[in-house]
Amino acid sequence: FLEVRGAAKAFGGNQVLSDVNLQIAQGEIVGLLGPNGSGKSTLLNLITGFTPADAGSVHFDGAPIERLAAHRIVRTGMARTFQLPSMPTKMSVMEVAMAAATAHHGVWDTLLGTPGARQAEGDARERATHLLHELLLTPVRDLPASALSGGQKKLLGIVCALMARPRMLLLDEPTAGVHPNLRRDIVAALQRLNAQGMTLVIVEHDMHFIREVCTRCVVLDRGEIVASCRPDELARNERVLQAYLGTA
Ligand code: ATP
Ligand code: MG
Repeated sequence: FLEVRGAAKAFGGNQVLSDVNLQIAQGEIVGLLGPNGSGKSTLLNLITGFTPADAGSVHFDGAPIERLAAHRIVRTGMARTFQLPSMPTKMSVMEVAMAAATAHHGVWDTLLGTPGARQAEGDARERATHLLHELLLTPVRDLPASALSGGQKKLLGIVCALMARPRMLLLDEPTAGVHPNLRRDIVAALQRLNAQGMTLVIVEHDMHFIREVCTRCVVLDRGEIVASCRPDELARNERVLQAYLGTA
């Protein structure tokens, strides 16, 4: 479903990813873990078109996407969230969610005011309303998006990604800094989405979360994939122990 082959990225002289090979099948929930600075966010940026790779290829659903710009990749059915989302100051939470839909579906009809556009806007409003409710943001839907707390911005990031109706969703630490109750809601929401067929890649440090949610883990260390295994095999994997404890 997703295949990354020989991906490499350096910033200046700093080799952040080297020869990354990764295959993800439809329906998987893959946990991507590794120490701070190991290249997890960079790998997500590379897959989703936010960072150009120095080498390698990315195929999604059989088609090469490594040369596509981020907004085009979204339209192939792949969406993502950001580790530290920043939100516009002048738009409300509801407007930001609506804008995500227009960004995903092409600005276009709406501005042109075609009959289909009105329909599209109605659909987007309905979907945004539903998703904001699902992620507990209904009470703050009219606040400026920039006024949300860090955790709430993460939730809004998930709403925006889901507005695209992606078949694959990549999340960069979706529950970091989020209250345990809400974390449970996020986990439940992600599991529901997966049950409906969505493939998930989740960058996550929390082992408990990974064991509970993920069907497979991929471990990065200094820009290399050092393990790909079931969550319950993590503790026995030497390369993983090395990455996390500095010992094997
Ligand atoms: P964390 O768990 O802390 O989020 P990470 O695994 O997501 O870490 P990355 O954000 O991918 O790590 O960063 C990997 C390395 O790449 C770091 O050393 C970082 O400083 C470097 N890096 C990332 N983006 C850039 C950039 N735009 N310019 C220069 N260096 C960068
Ligand atoms: Mg990161």
